[in-house]
Amino acid sequence: MLEKVVIANRGEIALRILRACRELGIATVAVHSEADRDLKHVRLADESVCIGPAASTESYLNVPAIISAAEVCDAVAIHPGYGFLSENADFAERVESSGFTFIGPRPETIRLMGDKITAIEAMKKAGVPTVPGSDGPLDDDKERSIRLAREIGYPVIVKAAGGGGGRGMRVVHSEAALLNAISLTRAEAGAAFGNDTVYMEKFLENPRHVEFQILADEHGNAIHLAERDCSMQRRHQKVVEEAPAPGISPELRAKIGERCAEACRQIGYRGAGTFEFLYENGEFYFIEMNTRVQVEHPVTEMITGVDIVKEQLLIAGGAPLSYTQDDIQVRGHAIECRINAEDPETFMPSPGDITALHVPGGPGVRVDTHVYDGYRVPPYYDSMIGKLITHGENRDVAIARMRGALSEMVISGIKTNIPLQAEIMADGNFAAGGVNIHYLEKKLGL
Ligand code: ADP
Repeated sequence: MLEKVVIANRGEIALRILRACRELGIATVAVHSEADRDLKHVRLADESVCIGPAASTESYLNVPAIISAAEVCDAVAIHPGYGFLSENADFAERVESSGFTFIGPRPETIRLMGDKITAIEAMKKAGVPTVPGSDGPLDDDKERSIRLAREIGYPVIVKAAGGGGGRGMRVVHSEAALLNAISLTRAEAGAAFGNDTVYMEKFLENPRHVEFQILADEHGNAIHLAERDCSMQRRHQKVVEEAPAPGISPELRAKIGERCAEACRQIGYRGAGTFEFLYENGEFYFIEMNTRVQVEHPVTEMITGVDIVKEQLLIAGGAPLSYTQDDIQVRGHAIECRINAEDPETFMPSPGDITALHVPGGPGVRVDTHVYDGYRVPPYYDSMIGKLITHGENRDVAIARMRGALSEMVISGIKTNIPLQAEIMADGNFAAGGVNIHYLEKKLGL
């Protein structure tokens, strides 16, 4: 068991990690910026260290400062949470070479999955279904690119191997536009990611976003925890997530989930991870793997009863998985609404003082948030201030509970997207289930 863990993150996920550590009797070190002295988990942690000014480049992304804090406090491991340094292979390497445990996969695994081309290759080997595509990088041979695109069939999408955050891709609808699109994407990728490798795949026009949660230990065991549907998005940002995904049969879940688990065994994956797929006309197409805990992990926890963050800590301590695949049963349905400090119409961030806070409760209601009455939301970071999660014996109950919970929730002093979430929960097509990734933007008239 790990004795003391540095929580290298902020906000709700830092508090989530702190709670898991406490349950396991692990001591905690909160590292925070000058702007985050009042964060709830900083107050609750056994120790805290200020690692730099408000700007994340000087604090939450400041690798030497985080490692020094771990040394000074005699910690044994570092949990990166999500965002910030969580998928940075160089950071994971620095952590391990400094003698600490990185709570996540090995640096080589992060690197393998961080390059979309090598990730897709590894997936194909394990029998994970991928998007029909160029199966490797595009080279300077123009005729070959034209031939490949014809074989795949238009529209195609040209993507940067090192891309991320929805950047470094271009949709191509016709042969006339192909070569220009390849050189533009290549130039942009070189400038933005320092890697100008690009590849091509079929552009799926109306997919849903469905992803599988997996857990793997360093003893060669790997299981899946079913899937989540995160199709309700705006500008590639997830707004609502749910588990399981509407309309996925237990047989298809078992089949795709087992392929993901097998891929983990083959690459020697360690920790929690997510396989992201586009899902269209009953077929799954792998697009990328996230080698960290995700914002939306609670919906999976609610339907499986597995504490994913506790498992991450146990796995990092060298323990075998606490569950076998047969132990994992899907029970009921869970929905998560992200609560953002932003204007519900213009989406402009709305930082400031929270003058009153009332959180909802009752059966099947979970609130993951670091904010409290009198907390000041700083302007420097992501606008997500919490997550409201409901669980019920079926999807209708989970939605009804979410409607009730949203109407009970009061956050005064700042603007939040609660009205938008209430509108989504009242939407007939959402209630029917299975809307695609373009639905929300169309509904908003974007
Ligand atoms: P990133 O690492 O930048 O998030 P992804 O590969 O996960 O990149 O793609 C981001 C988003 O782009 C997807 O969620 C999807 O909306 C869209 N996208 C990516 N590949 C395709 C594709 N082949 N067909 C249709 N949409 C795609």
